Amino acid sequence: MAVIRLLPSTLVNRIAAGEVIERPAAAVKELVENSLDAGATEIEVRIVEGGKSLIRVSDNGWGMDREGLTLAIERHATSKLPEDDLVNIHSFGFRGEALPSIAAVSRLTVTSRASGSEEGWSLEIIGGEPPTVQPANRNRGTVVEVRDLFFATPARLKFLKTTRTETEAVVDVMERLAMAHPQVSFTLYDESRQRLNLIVNPSELTPDPAAAQARRLAAVMGSDFAANSIAIDEFRGDYRLSGLAGLPTLHRANQIYQYLFINGRPVKERLLYGCVRAAYSDFLPSNRHPMLALFLTLPSDLVDVNVHPAKTEVRFQDSAAVRSIIVNGLKKALAAAGHLASTTGGAATLEALQHSQQRADSDSRAGRHYGGGGGGGGSRAAPSNLQNWYGFRSQAQQPHNNPRLSEYFSRDSGDQSGERDGFAPAAIVPPVHTDADDHAIDENYRSEKSYPLGVARGQIHATYIVSETHDGLVIVDQHAAHERLVYEKLKTAMSEQGIDRQTLLLPELVELSERQAEAVINRRDELAKLGLVVEALGIKTIVVREIPTLLARANIPDLVRDLADEILELETGQTLKERLFEVAATIACHGSVRAGKILNGDEMNRLLREMEITPHSGQCNHGRPTWVELKLSDVERLFGRK
Ligand code: ADP
Ligand code: MG
Repeated sequence: MAVIRLLPSTLVNRIAAGEVIERPAAAVKELVENSLDAGATEIEVRIVEGGKSLIRVSDNGWGMDREGLTLAIERHATSKLPEDDLVNIHSFGFRGEALPSIAAVSRLTVTSRASGSEEGWSLEIIGGEPPTVQPANRNRGTVVEVRDLFFATPARLKFLKTTRTETEAVVDVMERLAMAHPQVSFTLYDESRQRLNLIVNPSELTPDPAAAQARRLAAVMGSDFAANSIAIDEFRGDYRLSGLAGLPTLHRANQIYQYLFINGRPVKERLLYGCVRAAYSDFLPSNRHPMLALFLTLPSDLVDVNVHPAKTEVRFQDSAAVRSIIVNGLKKALAAAGHLASTTGGAATLEALQHSQQRADSDSRAGRHYGGGGGGGGSRAAPSNLQNWYGFRSQAQQPHNNPRLSEYFSRDSGDQSGERDGFAPAAIVPPVHTDADDHAIDENYRSEKSYPLGVARGQIHATYIVSETHDGLVIVDQHAAHERLVYEKLKTAMSEQGIDRQTLLLPELVELSERQAEAVINRRDELAKLGLVVEALGIKTIVVREIPTLLARANIPDLVRDLADEILELETGQTLKERLFEVAATIACHGSVRAGKILNGDEMNRLLREMEITPHSGQCNHGRPTWVELKLSDVERLFGRK
C-alpha cells in the first residue's frame, strides 16, 4: 500500500509557484500589483536579463512593519480580505500566494518601512528556507528584490525564453498596469536603458479621470492612436464601458494592441476579440485588427476574478451582457466617427509631399547641370564629377511615363501645352460654377455652414476628386468612397427587408462533433434571421434546409463547420454575417464607380455630399481611408509661408 503524507511547505510553495509565477513577467506583475495595493504613487522596476537574474521593485506605498514582513511570506497570508469575502474583491491581490511562491523558487529580499514607523526592516529568504530578518535603512515604502528566479526549480528555468522575449513580456505587463492606473508613475529599466518612462508630474494630477486616462493611453499606445481613436462612454444598468476605440483605418496585423480592463484589472479575455471582430467586421478584413483600450466596470459580485492563480482570466455571471455592452459601445463609437478617416492619411500625404519637395530641390539643382549641357555650361562653375554623375543618374532613373514635375521646371523647354504622359490635365474638370445650385454649395461652404468634405474643384487621373474645404483641401479616392456607399446601402436593405433566402431542393447534411452540432443548434434562431435555416438530426448531424441567396454558390458544409468552431471559440457567430457582407462587398465593388471614370462636377459633389451623411464612409471595406485631408496651414507650411 502506498503511504500518504502531507508535503512539506517548501515543496507546496514550489508547486504553487509553477502556477502563479510562470515567468519573470508574472513575478513583476505580482510585485507591482502589491505596490499598487499598498497605495503607491511611484513604482520603479529594474530587471537584469529580462528578470531572470534580477527583478527589483521599489515603491512609496504604506509599507510593512516587522511582523507584517514575516507574515507576508507565509502561504495564504494576506492583508486584503478583511471580511473573508471572496465575492467583493477590491484589491489586486487576495490569495496571499505571490510572495511565498516567489520566495520558494528564488533568493528574495524584502525591505520595508511601515508608514508612521521609525525603523525599517529587511527580510531575506532563499529557496523557501526559513528567513532571516534584520533592521535596515529605508525612508519609506517597500523594495522587493528577486534574484535568480527559478534557481530552485531547474525544470522551469529551462523553459524561460531569451532575455529579449522575457523583457518584452515585462514591458507588456507593466504597460497594462500603467494604463489601469493613469495617476501613478511607472518606470522600468533594464541593464542597458530605460524601457518605460510613465511619469505623472504633480502639475498633471487631475480630478478628471478621463483626462488622466487619455493622457496615459497616448503615452503607452502612441500619439497616433490618441489622435485616431474615439472615446467610448456607455452605460447599461450596473455596467459601464469607457476607453478609446481606434478608427478602423488605424489597423495592425495582430491583436496585441487590444486591451481590456475589468474593474481596473488588466485581463486577457478571448471574449474581447470576438466582440471587436463583430464590431469592426464591416470595416476591416479579418486579418487586420484595430487598436483599442476598453475599461469595463461592473458590480464585483457579477464577475469572478478567482478563476486562475495569475488572475488574468475572469468569469462573468452574464457574459451575454458583457458582450452586448462591448459590441454596442464599439459600434456606437464607430457610427459617431461617421465619415472620419484617420489623420495618419493626411500626415503621410504631407510627409510624402515634403519628401518629394526635398527631392525636387535636389533634382532641379542636379538637373540644371545636366539640362544646361547643350554644350554651353562654360559660364557656370563646372560641376564636379559627382554632381554630374548624380545629375545623370537621377534623370535616368525616372520612368519615362512618369516624369516629375520638377523636371519640367528645370528643363527650359518652352513646351507649355501640358500634354505630357502621366500628367493628365485633360482630366481636370472645370470648377463647379455651372448652375445656381453650385453657387449655393459654394456659398454654404464659404459661410462655413460647412460641407465637411468641401466643394469639388476637379478630378485628377480620373481617379481622385480634389475638393476645397473651408480650411484646406481634401483628396477622395472615388472608387473606394463609392464602394463604401453602395455597401452601406446594401446593408441597410438587408437589415430592413431581411435577407433573401432560398430553399435547398436537397437538404444538405453536415456531419459535426457533438459540441459543434450543439453550438450551431443553440444559435438556430439567430442563424435563421441571417438566412440559414438548420435543424438537428440526431446529436452529430445538422440538416441545412435554407440558405441565404447571396451564398447560393458557397460550400455549405465548410461554412457550417467554420460557424460551429467560431461559436465555440468566440461565442459569436460572426462568420455567416461576414460571409454575407463579403459577398455584399464584392457586389458593392463591382457596382461602384471605377477608378478611371471621368466624373463631372455634379457627380463629384453628389458623391461628397453622400459620403457626409453615410455612416462609416471614412474607410472602404478593407480598412483603407476613402479620403485624406490637408489643412491650408499645412499647405502653407509646405511653401514656407508659415
Ligand atoms: P496578496 O497580495 O494576495 O495579499 P502577496 O503574497 O502578494 O499576497 O502579499 C502578501 C501580503 O504582503 C499582502 O497582503 C500585503 O499585506 C503585504 N505586501 C506585499 N507587498 C507589499 C508592498 N509592496 N507594500 C506593502 N505591503 C505589501
Ligand atoms: Mg499580491
